[in-house]
Amino acid sequence: MKKIILTGDRPTGKLHVGHYVGSLKRRVELQNSGEYDDIFIMIADAQALTDNADNPEKVRQNIIEVALDYLSVGLDPAKSVLFIQSQIPELTELTFYYANLVTVSRLQRNPTVKSEIQMRGFQASIPVGFFTYPISQAADITAFKATTVPVGEDQAPMLEQCKEIVHKFNSVYGETLVDPQILLPDNAACLRLPGTDGKAKMSKSLGNCIYLSDPEEEVRKKIMNMFTDPNHLKVSDPGQVEGNPVFIYLDAFCRDELFAEYLPDYACLQELKDHYTRGGLGDVKVKKFLNNVMQEELAPIRARRHEWEQRIPEVYEILKTGSETAEKVAAQTLTDVKRAMKIDYFNDQALIAEQSERYGN
Ligand code: ATP
Ligand code: MG
Repeated sequence: MKKIILTGDRPTGKLHVGHYVGSLKRRVELQNSGEYDDIFIMIADAQALTDNADNPEKVRQNIIEVALDYLSVGLDPAKSVLFIQSQIPELTELTFYYANLVTVSRLQRNPTVKSEIQMRGFQASIPVGFFTYPISQAADITAFKATTVPVGEDQAPMLEQCKEIVHKFNSVYGETLVDPQILLPDNAACLRLPGTDGKAKMSKSLGNCIYLSDPEEEVRKKIMNMFTDPNHLKVSDPGQVEGNPVFIYLDAFCRDELFAEYLPDYACLQELKDHYTRGGLGDVKVKKFLNNVMQEELAPIRARRHEWEQRIPEVYEILKTGSETAEKVAAQTLTDVKRAMKIDYFNDQALIAEQSERYGN
């Protein structure tokens, strides 16, 4: 069986370092591993509109930002198909048919949808499109016959829901859809990177992000202002590393080799953590080190972004070509789905012959 990747991001803002460690970095590694037959990376504009219906300009403006972020982290249009969700109408049609296989109560139980509804204050008036976006996400994944979906932890309930749709479809209509597997980051700190404010998730909608496109000075300022252990007031106080975002970011980004260059008093992250826990290590010193570690990772991304920013028409062309390629694949799946569902009236000679005979033609 072919190995196929599908994943994507909502164009609701620029991409941040949470996206990077949660999904983007892995995608680039998988892309360059040469182990996958096809890689589809989708800008989910239709999904972004489900909770931004009154702000289409925001979604439109952020398409190019997400595309630039993709290219700057090293997604390569020669190896990965970069495309825009709304340009593939087959996805909408699949969503409509899959909706028959999902109950309202099952959607209500989806924990990610539940918390997102709460975060957006939708309790009293949830847009139907938003409520059903897990179904549309199942359409996205299955349309490309994806076997592997590299995403952050918040997407696990979506993958569960998608698998249920696949199993239900295949059991009712016959083996048609491919069962996808989620691929979560190996590093626990990357599953759900917290915000710079210490909130559980760095998220475009919460304004607690370090963006991949932030200039060097902006990144430094955000790091120096980061939330740490609130009880670590004096340098001599013992500090807590668990739940401390500065140390979680170090867990996500730091390589031990970087100590020799930027903080040679320590050989590895564990030594730094031990000192902080004992007391006698100030936040400023740790933050300065984190800044060096993160700038090391972000500098090449920023440089590539500057190059692509000079080639905007080409970026749109990449998305257009990618969308054309993606549509062909989705159209084939839709044909398979409709045939399985017996929505196939004009090409089936046996059907026409059977009906003719019944009526004595
Ligand atoms: P929005 O607030 O508009 O939903 P978002 O920041 O949650 O935006 P998405 O486009 O929904 O971003 O998510 C894109 C991908 O990035 C998903 O695979 C998601 O799991 C991953 N991701 C998002 N935020 C984080 C985070 N803080 N840590 C790890 N992975 C993340
Ligand atoms: Mg999200």
